Amino acid sequence: EKSMASLIMIFGATGDLAKRKLFPSLYRLFEKGRLTKQFAVIGVARRSLSNEEFQQSVKDSVLTALKKDENIDEFISHFSYHSHDVADSNSYAALKNLADQIDDHYSLKGNRIFYLAMAPEFFGPIALHLKSDGLTDVKGYKRLVIEKPFGHDLESAKELNKQIRTAFSESEVYRIDHYLGKEMVRNIEVIRFANAIFEPLWNNRYISNIQITSSETLGVEERGRYYESSGALRDMLQNHMMQMVALLAMEPPIKLTTDEIRSEKVRVFRALRTVEGEQVKDYFVRGQYGEGTIEDEQVPKYRDEPMVEKDSNTETFVAGKIMIDNFRWAGVPFYIRTGKRMTRKSTKIVVQFKDIPMNLYYQTEKMLNPNLLVIHIQPEEGITLHLNAKKAGGHLDAQEVKLSFANTGIHAMNTPEGYEKLLYDCMRGDATNFTHWDEVAYSWNFVDKISEVWQKTKAADSFPNYQSGTMGPKAADELLEKDGYFWWPVT
Ligand code: NAD
Repeated sequence: EKSMASLIMIFGATGDLAKRKLFPSLYRLFEKGRLTKQFAVIGVARRSLSNEEFQQSVKDSVLTALKKDENIDEFISHFSYHSHDVADSNSYAALKNLADQIDDHYSLKGNRIFYLAMAPEFFGPIALHLKSDGLTDVKGYKRLVIEKPFGHDLESAKELNKQIRTAFSESEVYRIDHYLGKEMVRNIEVIRFANAIFEPLWNNRYISNIQITSSETLGVEERGRYYESSGALRDMLQNHMMQMVALLAMEPPIKLTTDEIRSEKVRVFRALRTVEGEQVKDYFVRGQYGEGTIEDEQVPKYRDEPMVEKDSNTETFVAGKIMIDNFRWAGVPFYIRTGKRMTRKSTKIVVQFKDIPMNLYYQTEKMLNPNLLVIHIQPEEGITLHLNAKKAGGHLDAQEVKLSFANTGIHAMNTPEGYEKLLYDCMRGDATNFTHWDEVAYSWNFVDKISEVWQKTKAADSFPNYQSGTMGPKAADELLEKDGYFWWPVT
């Protein structure tokens, strides 16, 4: 085991992400003994707080998130606070001094993790300052953990990358995609590559299509200002959905190492069929929620949400057909959809297998269902295999049976949050479940061509085009119908 000694600097330590995810995740690592005595956290944010006040807020957030606080006082004693405006160049020298002191005090060997849990416009400037003011000038390792969004399009992502790469090498950059922290997303590889009954079928000869749905019931909430310049395509598809596509489609890596796995994922991105100009409408559908009812509650339309334009052109839903033009996947559509204010909160993958060559059971009252492999990502975690078997007592009647493995049940409360795993990976120096720059660049390139068309052709008159509490606009169903498929209901 590599030395875990590290100084973790959290920029944005009074923010929502720090409170809801980062502090509770660190506490869980502490509880499991995965943080030795050689760890310290410096919280950085603009507000002026004493160390005690900051420690109290860490304690509160752990208690709120996890409903427990054993040994919390020892845990929070490792936390200090530095009030610091990241835009103010003068303030970095003081931060460096504090970091050096704490490094000495806890014998942290100069190992540093800089976690940027702040608005993205600060990512570049902070990285530049960390270098110019000597904070990255350390004996140990230095790593940068950076939240989404990584740029707004390919151009801005390149610019941001240039800035952070002046201070950190590619192998020191940990770009967070929190879907890669989810247990069942990490399980995709194992299900595929550790099972003799799936891998031989995992191609265009046996799979007819793959469907990935990530639906939310929440609306835009307080994030209207950010979301207006983002939309579902940039906020969800460019990163999380594309990562799931890559994991489902990649070739088996030569070894389970970071470089091998990432390079197989990059090869999937390279094989993506470009969709541009006139083709966009044949492959992609956008939607924006209208009012409706979710869980018996009446909710407003997107355009009535705070900080949202009355004639907003922003999509809150996107569905698309992605083609991967390589030997394994030629002809197999990957359908993806994601949106806000949908029927339920759920992320699922459905792999639909082709029909058998001759069906002996067609005469029976019901047609056979195709075999489906469903991977439940959230909130349930598990897999279900849909098979056909003889109906008990019947003559030749077949019925659908489901083989299920649920990762939930008693484990549900204990499933470690993705952030805990990602933080631990970063401390261990394992970047496998973080996004490499090449993946970011290819997926922006793909997404930019779609958003270009959507920018030019406003959807103003057709929006809103789906009711809150539904599975999106009709056009999303038609996208599959024209290929002879339908979205498998996600229950
Ligand atoms: P937030 O607005 O709640 O917190 C921002 C933090 O930055 C605060 O601590 C604030 O004090 C600090 N800050 C702002 N301006 C500053 C300045 N000039 N100098 C120093 N500190 C300053 O934001 P958040 O929701 O915690 O999100 C942070 C990042 O994480 C964003 O990139 C966001 O996209 C990403 N993210 C958040 C979530 C989430 O659940 N909140 C989920 C995924 C990704």
